[in-house]
Amino acid sequence: MSGRAGRILRRLRALAEAGPDPRGGVSRPGFSPAHARAVLLAARWMRDAGLEVSADAVGNLYGVWRPRGADASGPVLLAGSHLDTVPNGGRFDGALGVVAAIDALAALVQRGALTRPTGVVAFVEEEGTVSTTGCVGSRFAAGQLELAAVRSLRDPDGRPLGERIDTFLEVLRREVGLASGRGPRVRGYLELHVEQGPVLDREGVTVAAVEAVVGIAHADVRFEGAANHAGTTPMDARRDALWGGAEFALACRRLGLDRSGRAVVTNGLIGVEPGATNVVPGACTVRVEVRAPTSREMDEVRRAVEAAARGAAGHHRLEATVSGWQEIAPQALDPGVQAAVREAARELGLPCKIMPSWAGHDAAPMAAAAPAGMLFVPSVGGISHAPGEYTRPEHVAAGVEVLEAALARLDRALP
Ligand SMILES: [Zn+2]
Repeated sequence: MSGRAGRILRRLRALAEAGPDPRGGVSRPGFSPAHARAVLLAARWMRDAGLEVSADAVGNLYGVWRPRGADASGPVLLAGSHLDTVPNGGRFDGALGVVAAIDALAALVQRGALTRPTGVVAFVEEEGTVSTTGCVGSRFAAGQLELAAVRSLRDPDGRPLGERIDTFLEVLRREVGLASGRGPRVRGYLELHVEQGPVLDREGVTVAAVEAVVGIAHADVRFEGAANHAGTTPMDARRDALWGGAEFALACRRLGLDRSGRAVVTNGLIGVEPGATNVVPGACTVRVEVRAPTSREMDEVRRAVEAAARGAAGHHRLEATVSGWQEIAPQALDPGVQAAVREAARELGLPCKIMPSWAGHDAAPMAAAAPAGMLFVPSVGGISHAPGEYTRPEHVAAGVEVLEAALARLDRALP
């Protein structure tokens, strides 16, 4: 194992000691005492790396290096991720991006490779565990959420998030000083993250430049037939609504498979009415969720889903209605940041894939505020949000090296 991977893995182990879960993983809900302990550790490492440490009004932590004489209010190129976790999550999700960014920036500062302000950020409440909405810290940093809106989000007990934030900031104050404002203006953002899926591990590719964070849309498809006696209604006289739902679910599977890695379709909820052992289902409602990396692909898949519903209904003499589409649009990541990641990997002789992120990340809101990108390293077996989450030391080392080289390129390339 390289000294660098060893150092990063030791820090990930130290972070995992903030919020160990008896089930074997890490539980660091946003703004919890465990989360505060992790942030304080990161603050110490930032300071050791020669960075100026501060926090904003929601608890996002920043460690910034500025060249001598630089305007203290000038925009900053940021690398980072988040330090909160899902309940009983892994030790790499989020934490790797923060620890690797500190390591990369320390090296860049030490070898005098930077010409402009550059920093590390550790965002709060990315997982949405206590606010039921994700990327709270990064949406605040990107200017999409005002402080009052963040503070009035409700926690699972129905209390305003502001109370948790105040307690969190009180703990941070000892190490970080007074937390206020919105953090530095952002010139660019690059996030190293574990893939959380099996693609890189399966293909044996070391890093990926992320092209987009996928959009997510969902709707309900309702099939209506006729409820009737489960004994006396002959099979060929039935209008069983579940037959439509079942055929539709398999059509969704086919639809996703046919788009070979460019869309996923899921039916995670299904219900039949009236819902009794001895009644032919008269109605069946199937939730459908679609994810794809571009708006064009989202639209195509949504249309195909609706056609599949009509087809399934027709085959079984049912009526189908599709209602309630809700969509979070895909977020394209910056082509210039992608190119910096690709070129950094090439310079290091590492294979680099271009792929979408199928999960949400802080980079998505950041991309609306500044040129933003992501860099993935493999997750062994595609396991994530679970104690078994693991990335091999050689991939950790490759990730931090690509991150460092990409930041050096962006230092000069970004306006
Ligand atoms: Zn994450």
